[in-house]
This record gives sequence, structure tokens and C-alpha cells, in this order.
Amino acid sequence: MPGTYGKERKRYMDKQLINVKMKKILIVLVVFLGIILTVLGNSYRIAKEMTKQLYQNLEDVANQNALALHNTVHGNYLLLEGLSDNLRGATPEDIEERLDTLNGFVGEYGLKRFAFCFPDGTCYSTDQEVSNLAFREFFKRGMEGKGTITGVLFDALSDDHGMINVMTIPIYDESGNVESVFGMTYNTKDFNEALQVESFDGQGYSCAINTDGQIIANFGNDRLELSKNLFDDILARDPNNSRIIENIKGHIGEGEQGAGTMYLPEKTYFCCVPIQLLMGAETWYLVTAVPAKVLDERTAPILDTLYLMGALVVILILIGVWVVIYLSKEQRNIVLKIAYEDVLTGGANFPKFLSDMQKRRIEKGYMVAMDLTNFNNINIAAGKNAGDQALIRLWDILDMEVQSGEYAGHVGEDLFIMFLQAPERELLVERLRRISEEVNANAKALQIQGIHARYGIYYLDKKESVEEAYSKAQIARKYVKTSKDQWFAFYDEMDHEKRKQLQRYEERFEEAMDAEEFEIWFQPKYSTSTGEIVGSEALVRWREQDGSLIPPGSFIPLFEQNGMIVRLDEYVFRQVCKQQAKWLREGRKILPASINLSRASLYYSDIVDRYRMILEEFRLEAKYIQIEVTESAIEGKTDIRVLLEEFRSIGIQILMDDFGTGFSSLATLNMRCFDTLKLDKSLIDHIGDKNGETLLYYVINMGRQLGLHITAEGVENQMQLNYLQELQCDDIQGYLFAKPMPLDEFEKKL
Ligand code: C2E
Ligand code: CA
Ligand code: CA
Repeated sequence: MPGTYGKERKRYMDKQLINVKMKKILIVLVVFLGIILTVLGNSYRIAKEMTKQLYQNLEDVANQNALALHNTVHGNYLLLEGLSDNLRGATPEDIEERLDTLNGFVGEYGLKRFAFCFPDGTCYSTDQEVSNLAFREFFKRGMEGKGTITGVLFDALSDDHGMINVMTIPIYDESGNVESVFGMTYNTKDFNEALQVESFDGQGYSCAINTDGQIIANFGNDRLELSKNLFDDILARDPNNSRIIENIKGHIGEGEQGAGTMYLPEKTYFCCVPIQLLMGAETWYLVTAVPAKVLDERTAPILDTLYLMGALVVILILIGVWVVIYLSKEQRNIVLKIAYEDVLTGGANFPKFLSDMQKRRIEKGYMVAMDLTNFNNINIAAGKNAGDQALIRLWDILDMEVQSGEYAGHVGEDLFIMFLQAPERELLVERLRRISEEVNANAKALQIQGIHARYGIYYLDKKESVEEAYSKAQIARKYVKTSKDQWFAFYDEMDHEKRKQLQRYEERFEEAMDAEEFEIWFQPKYSTSTGEIVGSEALVRWREQDGSLIPPGSFIPLFEQNGMIVRLDEYVFRQVCKQQAKWLREGRKILPASINLSRASLYYSDIVDRYRMILEEFRLEAKYIQIEVTESAIEGKTDIRVLLEEFRSIGIQILMDDFGTGFSSLATLNMRCFDTLKLDKSLIDHIGDKNGETLLYYVINMGRQLGLHITAEGVENQMQLNYLQELQCDDIQGYLFAKPMPLDEFEKKL
């Protein structure tokens, strides 16, 4: 048997599986990330666009407010100008009378009063107040010929000292000199109300400030208190505003409009628009503000919908990914279940046993291969059905026997495998004897004679692979089969005779090679659809000088263990090339012949070069030779793909042999370094029962999907052929068409 590839193989498989998993996870992650980024990016873009529109909206409102303020003030200014005509040339004597005529306008325009000031500052008002207002800025500016509209002042004329705003203009005499100052006075409250423009459903508010930030008028809200400084008193209250103050001051310095966010302390959007109210009057700035939440509330539903839709998309995609993963898992589980369930007994099959063994907790134990003597008697005497029932019963017996840390499986026909624990050999033998007694009782119940259980046992310690231990247990079992008085054998206690025979084979190998005792037999392969021969498999036989024929099963395992197989495989390869070349020279039509390569051969360096040189030596095209390898032969050899690709690159096709035995797995299908899948006889044997057919269906379909050519081995009856035709399996190799035959016989068939 080849080296310790059990663990290597598992590691390799695990790595493969992890790679596939990682790739899948990576793809899902990338797609997912892409979607999230797209959704987030779009949301961000839209949110930004909406904020921009929001500011635009605010600016529009601010400009409208500014315009309204300007219009109102300007209207009043025109009124003031119109009325001033009547006051030109007024004297202290007639001023009160002249003012009286204006009283009607006071009520109509919601004013507190009109007032008229002489150059010395003495002012007369429509409400009969007289006082000197020479100290007032508006008076001084008026005398300089400038119009003014003031911020909030405390009334100096009347005793209520209420808050007022004053608008003044100069009155010129005929020669164009300022002769007096005329003005109108508002109660600040009325002034503000008159200026108010409703914005944002009454939730927006405004104030007018001068260049120093002094609040001159305030409309719609008392959050920006009058007579305070917007910069120093209001905005400075919240540290977040320092940048905003600079910003507004900057805009004011440039005489431009500006916008931003301020904290009062509630987050507030504002827009600051300059207005020139009167010719010669100082510039005011109208600050229109709206609490951020008012505007944000307008965008919130849209953004919410957006985020909701994003979330929905993500969820839908997640569901999609989940469904895909779930379905593929489901399918894999079905396949795995079928793959691990024994078709006949419903218990563990051989792959399941191997899988259990790989995962076992207790390393050491006894590997016991079991079969029944004369099992065919049951089939013959009581019918196939009774035979099956007996096997099912036998499985139940074994299943009962197996404790925790122990495993059993049905390998096929009457062959079972167990991994058992026992403190010493005698106690193990005791357990086996109990099983045998139950088997006997069972046979008796079926009234069948001569049925006995036999066991081949190998003690597995942790240094060895499961496969190796398995084949040693098998060797011991086969050995018991030939012995009349033994019902069990331990591999390491096997008969001396047997060992001697193997030793003889080993010693005779060189001689046999020289004497060309190894014969090549051919077993034809047939097209499933046309029934024509499409190729053959070369199988070696050992014809000793006495004429006896030794089957490969007797010496191949031995040669695989001692490495002689490398030379034998090359010999077979050479012989087949030689034969194909000869047929070609004779002008015959030839078909591809496959030869078997053992694991040891694959490990031999330069194998591809050596084989290529043999092809060249016979000038044979590579397409006439194919190579069969088993999965167990290639597992664990990490650069095996490279090697197989090298073979393929020189034109030799690779056939995956014995697919479907315990040593192969579905993951092999993914390796993509072979051209043909050869389905093992054990898979074909299951045709006729539902689970077996389902497994075959999956395997063939998967193989086809991967673009593999599919050959069925060990086809023995018409029913199997029919089903394989139905599944469109490509080729058939089996006793139904032809057994392996010596060269001359095969030549006739061609
Ligand atoms: P294998 O490669 O799986 O070859 C197929 C085996 O199945 C052959 O047994 C063949 O006779 C048998 N077979 C084909 N059709 C049927 C069928 O319908 N029913 C049954 N019951 N059996 C069928 P064979 O010739 O005894 O070879 C046994 C094994 O020996 C081969 O299994 C292969 O692993 C090995 N072997 C044979 N020749 C060589 C060789 O040149 N090199 C190496 N490395 N191994 C070889
Ligand atoms: Ca083969
Ligand atoms: Ca095979």
C-alpha cells in the first residue's frame, strides 16, 4: 500500500473546501459591499442635493423678505417725502397747525407720530410733544442731508419711553440747503409687524442687523431679541457659532449675502441678505432663520423612504443569497446523505465509515473486516430477497454491537467493516464470537446451512492511515477465506505460508520481467449510444512459466508497497505503445487504450518525460494512449495537478478511475485536471434501487456539467445498461459486453 496519505488527503481536501468556501464568501462580500456602497452613495448624493435645495429655498425666502422690507420702508419713505412738501418753510408758530393736518395719516399708517425738527434740534410732534432731539443720530444725519431709518430707540418725546423706530428725511429750502428734518415714528412692535413676511408656515423668522451686528428689527420670533447684538450677545452664547460669526462678518464686510447654520442653541439654518433701505442710509442685513428641524422634517420622509428602499434592496439580496446558499447546501446534503447511506441496510456505508474514522476520537483500535462464508447459498436457496434480509439483519447485529468511539459500515455484498475497541485481543475475539453466534442463529432461522462469519483483523495504531489499515484487514480476511479451520486472523499473525508466497512474488519480479511473464490483456469499452467499440483498458496478468495465471489483485498491492509497480507500470505502458504502433504499421484502425498508473508511479520523477520518450520511440500519437489514476493515488500530492496537466499538455488524456468507491469523493469532481470519469462498479451495482439511482444521476449530471466524459465500469446486465443509456452515460466497460481478454482475442474483436 502507498504511504500515509490518509491525513495528507484529508488536509488537502479540507484546504480545497476552505478555498472554495473562501472564494464564495469573498464573492458574496464584494457583491454585498458594492450594493451597500451604491445605496449609501446614492442616499448621500440625494441627501446632499436636498440640503442644497433646502438652502436655496431658504435663500429665496430671505430675498423675498428683504424685498418686502425694502418695499415697505420705501413706501413709507415716499409718503414722508410727499408730506414734507407741506412742511417746507414752517416756523415754530405754524408748525403745530401744519402737523395737525397729518394726523389722519398717523392712524392709517399705524404710526406713533410724525415729528418735525428745526435746525436747533427742537422737535414738534403730531402728538403735541416738544423736545430737543439734537443729540439723536437721526437728527444729525438729517441735518447732513441724509435719510435714516433707525434701529430700536427709546422714545425721548413721550413719557412712556417705549421702543420706537424712526425714519427721517431732510427738508431742503429753495436754495438746496437743509432747512429742517422730518420723520415718522413707529412703535417698534408695529414696525416689526408691518415688516413681517410669513415664511416656512410661520416657523421662519428674521431680524435686521446693522454692520456691527446690532439687531435693529426683529420679525416673527423673540429668539433674536431686539436691542441685542446678534454677534456678541446671541451667537456668542453657543461655542459652535464662532465660525459662523466670522462667516457672517466676512459676508457683511464684502456687502454680500451668505448662509449657514447657527445654534440658538437649537440648530438653525439662516441666510443673511444685505439691503439698502434709503438713499444714504446705512446698509442693513436681513437675517432670515428657520429651525433646522423644520426644514429637516421636510426632507426626512424622502430620506426615510430612500433608506427604507436601500434596506429593502439589501434585505432582498440577502434573502436571495441565502436562498442560493440554502438550495446548494440542500442539494449537497441530499447528495451527501445518499452518498453516506447504505442502499441496502439504510445504515452507514463505506464512505461514511471512512469519514467517521477520519473524525474518530480514539486513535487506536481494531480494524475488522468481516464477511460470510457461502453467503451466495442464501441467495441461491432462499432467493435474493432473503439474502438482502439476512444482510439487513446482520447490519442490525453489528449496529447494536458498536459502542461509542466505535464504527461500522457496509462495504458491499456480504462484506462489512468495523473499528472496535478492546483492552486485549482475547476480549476482542470474545466480542466477535458473540456476533458469530447471532449470525448462526440467524442463518438457522432461515434454515440455511454453512453460513459463518469470518474476520480479518488489523490493529491500527495512530501512525497509520485508515486506508492502509483497511487493506491490511482485508488481506487478513482474504487469508482466512482460504483457511479451513480459522474463522478469524490478525494481520500480523497471518500464516507463514502466505507471507512466503508474497516473498516469492517479490523475489521473482526481476526474473518475470526479463522473461516477459507479464501479459497485457485488453477489455474493450463500448459506446452507450451506438454499441461500437470505442477503446480499451489494458490490464496486466502474470503468466508464470508453469502456465498458471496470477490475477493482478494478488501482486499489484504487493508491488505498490515495495515500489516495484513503477517498473511494471512503465512496462505495461511500453508494451501497449508498442502494440498500438504495430497495429498502425499493419494498417489497422486503432482506438485509444488506457493504462493504469499507481500512486508510486506518479511519484517517480520525470515520469512525463520518460513516457513521452516512449511515445516518441514508437512514433505513436499521444491520443492513442490514456492514463487511469484513482483519487487515492493523487490525493495529498500537492503538485499533482501540474503533473496531470503535463500529461494532458503532451496529449495524453487522464481518466479518473474507481470513482464512487470509498476512497473518492465528490470534491474530486472539482479538481478539473482529468478528462473522463470512470464510475466504479459499486455505483453501477446500485442501479435498480432508488437511492443508488439518484446518487448516480447526481454524479453523472455533475460530471457532465463539468464537461467530463463518463464511462461506467462493471456493467453486468441489461437493466444497468438501460439506465445508463437513459442517463446518457458515454461509454460502457463491463462483462455484459466483454471481459478482459488476451491480445489475440482482442485483435479478432477489432
Ligand atoms: P481496475 O483498474 O478498476 O480495472 C477494472 C477491473 O474490473 C478489472 O479487474 C476488470 O476485469 C474488472 N471488471 C471489468 N468489468 C467488470 C464487470 O462487469 N464485472 C466485474 N465483476 N468485474 C469487471 P482486473 O483485471 O482483475 O484488475 C484489477 C485491478 O488491478 C485493476 O482495477 C487495477 O487497479 C489493477 N491493475 C490491473 N492492471 C494494472 C497495471 O498495469 N498497473 C496498475 N498499477 N494496476 C493495474
Ligand atoms: Ca483501471
Ligand atoms: Ca476501475
